[in-house]
Amino acid sequence: MTVIDLHAHSTRSDGKESPTQVFEHAAKAGINILALTDHDTTSGWSEATEAAQRFGIGFIPGIEVTTRAKLQRNGGSHFISVHLLAYLPNPNDEGLVATMGESVGSRETRALAMVEALSKDFEITWDDVLAQLAHGATIGRPAIADALVELGVVLDRTEAFDGILSKHGGYYLPTEVVDTFDAIQLVLNAGGVPVIAHPLTGISPNTDRGDLPLEHFEALIAAGLAGFEVYHREVPELAREWLLELANQHELIVTGSSDYHGVHGKPNRLGENITDPEMLERIIAQSSGTAALL
Ligand code: AMP
Ligand code: FE
Ligand code: ZN
Ligand code: FE
Repeated sequence: MTVIDLHAHSTRSDGKESPTQVFEHAAKAGINILALTDHDTTSGWSEATEAAQRFGIGFIPGIEVTTRAKLQRNGGSHFISVHLLAYLPNPNDEGLVATMGESVGSRETRALAMVEALSKDFEITWDDVLAQLAHGATIGRPAIADALVELGVVLDRTEAFDGILSKHGGYYLPTEVVDTFDAIQLVLNAGGVPVIAHPLTGISPNTDRGDLPLEHFEALIAAGLAGFEVYHREVPELAREWLLELANQHELIVTGSSDYHGVHGKPNRLGENITDPEMLERIIAQSSGTAALL
């Protein structure tokens, strides 16, 4: 059996391990093919390429692109955060590079503002946060969480995410990023394969798609969305059933992944969810931006 895990993070974004360590752990966990999908960056790909060869595993270059979709509800509109996995895109595509740069910039602006607000109540400084981040890495709430751990405010990242750094914790700010539909087009233009990461996370587990209209998903598919990451610990059971049905109807790709962030980054473990080899073959067949390293 080929064990394929298509979603993992390193210190190039909010993972706690370098790309080399991630691949070393993947080899030990019995993974045969791993995708590195750091948030809004491809800077880990070259180290991952070497590490994958060294530890004898296949490498699928990827990105987890931060996007947001505007939805209409009761006459008003609101934004939802959508993470879009881009498999095998050309890392030098101008549009994609520009968008990743903008996202990294707005992530920094937003993190600065959150730290500014936090510093009114806690002894936290921007330098404390930067001290938790590898040079040039994509910043996010996990780096702020790490600084809060270091300062003894919380015990670990999870406590920070469940409390102070949660949406309702009093310090949360959204990040202004590319629209989901534009991001799908960018990924396609770069020869990549766009798959929605952990779709429908956070909805009520008693519903199949929360309060998100079917039209939203149909519009994403019409825009060229290639698939859904159905098997992920944060996708509720009823949502999985519904997503599988939708994927079936439209002959979309279905993936499964761990979303590993390192042993101490998140509870997610390498290989806890995996992808069918046939689905990876379809991803490779649909891509034209970068070669898979198998
Ligand atoms: P942000 O993109 O800055 O809003 O932060 C969200 C990121 O935090 C996601 O990419 C997750 O990987 C990470 N995250 C969410 N919950 C946790 C948690 N409990 N522990 C560690 N990381 C988390
Ligand atoms: Fe993350
Ligand atoms: Zn994500
Ligand atoms: Fe992720």
